[in-house]
Amino acid sequence: MGSAVAAHAARRGKRVLGVERFALGHDLGASSGRTRIIRKAYFEAPAYVPLLERAYELWTALERETGTVLVDRCGVLVVGSATSLALAGVRRSAAQFAIDVEEYSAAKMHERWPQCRPLSAEAGLFERDAGVVFPERGIAAHQRIAIAHGAELRAHTEVAAWSRRAGGALELQFRGGARIETERLALCAGPWMGSLTGELALPIVVQRNVQLWFGAPAAQLGECRMPAFFVDRAGFPKPLYGTPDYGDGLKAALHGFGDRVEPDALDRAIAPEDIDAVARALDAWLPGAAATYREGKACMYALTPDEHFIIDLDPRDAGIVIAGGFSGHGYKFAPVVGEIVADLALDGAARHPIDFLSLKRFTSRRPPL
Ligand SMILES: Cc1cc2nc3c(=O)[nH]c(=O)nc-3n(C[C@H](O)[C@H](O)[C@H](O)COP(=O)(O)OP(=O)(O)OC[C@H]3O[C@@H](n4cnc5c(N)ncnc54)[C@H](O)[C@@H]3O)c2cc1C
Repeated sequence: MGSAVAAHAARRGKRVLGVERFALGHDLGASSGRTRIIRKAYFEAPAYVPLLERAYELWTALERETGTVLVDRCGVLVVGSATSLALAGVRRSAAQFAIDVEEYSAAKMHERWPQCRPLSAEAGLFERDAGVVFPERGIAAHQRIAIAHGAELRAHTEVAAWSRRAGGALELQFRGGARIETERLALCAGPWMGSLTGELALPIVVQRNVQLWFGAPAAQLGECRMPAFFVDRAGFPKPLYGTPDYGDGLKAALHGFGDRVEPDALDRAIAPEDIDAVARALDAWLPGAAATYREGKACMYALTPDEHFIIDLDPRDAGIVIAGGFSGHGYKFAPVVGEIVADLALDGAARHPIDFLSLKRFTSRRPPL
């Protein structure tokens, strides 16, 4: 998100400094793992759809500008039973925004994708225009655009604290003692937001989530390429999702399945239990797909209580924008978040409808959605 903000703010002709505590393009935060699902018929809430429409436009523009493929429109298949909230949510967003989604019975699903095993009571909703976005490439593309428009990006520079000088600028203090002054500050610290927002006590908890890659016999999955999938099945510990094999294996994970952690104490080693939980679900959905475990990576969700993002001005200081709590579904929005945060920082208001993401919802009695 920070790279996207730097790109959008720099494009608007502002003097921009982006700071990153690790190397640029590191894999220790929330955005690593080579693939992220992107879809528009958003089951989490229809209010996200206008933001997604803009995100799609901005991803396409970024692809053109950088000459990089950032999105693969391989389609996304969402599967569930009649009581699945995910299926109901896809239908609701699709109906409200006329998004093209194809309905499949279990038999039709199996006919089209013979390798999958839906239960007889399950149905599938296939969104053809959805697919996969490649996060490391997206981050690099935003950084290239930021630099091309004059931004400075400083790696291995950790913000230790910030304060507002009496009647003046914001002062950032870096670990090691260096200080700078700035007029506006965008805080996009992912799982580390808590360490920069202090007494604001944002309601964000961090959860360990593993993503795993499996090899499978080519005949099993190669002939008829699976789209990305999200299977909301009562028998699984959490919904199973996966992305196609881009030469490094089929990636699969359980959405929101993991222990609460402190980000600097994340256990990055993959345990046999991590593999078992995902492999069992994957094998039920795509028999044979979990035959060979290849690699795994621990990552972090920054969860808010309602699992909706927080994008707002800091109630203590209107020169500061807070963008965090992306709750395990934020990456696809990166370019539109960049645009929104740049708007908030530079104009004090966003051009897109984001009231439902405000901090007010945690103190007001009226539900935002
Ligand atoms: C396993 C997994 C699967 C996911 N799947 C999907 C998906 O399919 N689709 C989707 O849309 N989203 C998905 N997400 C969610 C998405 O990846 C995240 O919401 C998004 O990447 C969050 O980005 P971020 O910029 O907030 O966090 P990060 O990428 O973690 O960036 C925060 C950055 O701030 C830096 N930082 C922190 N503190 C400081 C400091 N004090 N000083 C300087 N720098 C600092 C960090 O080093 C880091 O680089 C998934 C997440 C995970 C973990």
